[in-house]
Amino acid sequence: MPTVIQEQIKILVELQRIDSEIYHLKKELASHPLLKQQLEADFEKKKVRLKAVEEEQKAAQLKQKQREGDLGAKEEKIKKLQAQLYQLKSNKEYSAMDMEIKGLKADNSVLEEEILKLLDVVDQTKAKCAKEKTLLAVEEKKLKDTLDALALKAQGMQAELSVREEKRKAYTPHVDAKLIRQYEKILKGREGLALVPVKKSSCGGCHMELPPQRVNEIQMQDRVIVCESCARILYWPS
Ligand SMILES: [Zn+2]
Repeated sequence: MPTVIQEQIKILVELQRIDSEIYHLKKELASHPLLKQQLEADFEKKKVRLKAVEEEQKAAQLKQKQREGDLGAKEEKIKKLQAQLYQLKSNKEYSAMDMEIKGLKADNSVLEEEILKLLDVVDQTKAKCAKEKTLLAVEEKKLKDTLDALALKAQGMQAELSVREEKRKAYTPHVDAKLIRQYEKILKGREGLALVPVKKSSCGGCHMELPPQRVNEIQMQDRVIVCESCARILYWPS
């Protein structure tokens, strides 16, 4: 005839099996918000490259507009000087103004070259932006798919969790109130593991070796015996 405690332990073994599954489901569900946050942060980091190229493009465009403005102003000045040139009386004044016009023209050819180079930079950065945007769109789709899969998985786990929560209710009324309180207290404090079998004369929870006398007592199982090291309830595996 099994002892009362042996009968109770048998029920607790079933309960522990369910509670271990509940513990792991809850643990994984709890890890999802951080995982989601990490995935989103990784995606944000990928946007940085696009932003840098966009900034480069804006800067080149701005500089190009400025140089075009400078070029226009100098061209206006050349026109004005050229109109005045023929009204000058002295050779000295004429050659001074002619020198000034030549200087302005030299400036302008430098500006024109610079503008062409800037237009090249604008074209290149535009192409780079387009490429980065395409890559980013792929990454965004990947992120969305991963998050969708994660949400679906969480939904499934929530359902599994409900099934197990319901299932454990079938066992708890059959365990002595004091014992179930003790069991649930250990469950909370010991990472979802309150009841462990003896494994090779050691505690199946913390692996602490048990004295032979204790092993005998556990085999007899006429009272609840806990591990002195981790406080988990010990039982003899059948
Ligand atoms: Zn232990």
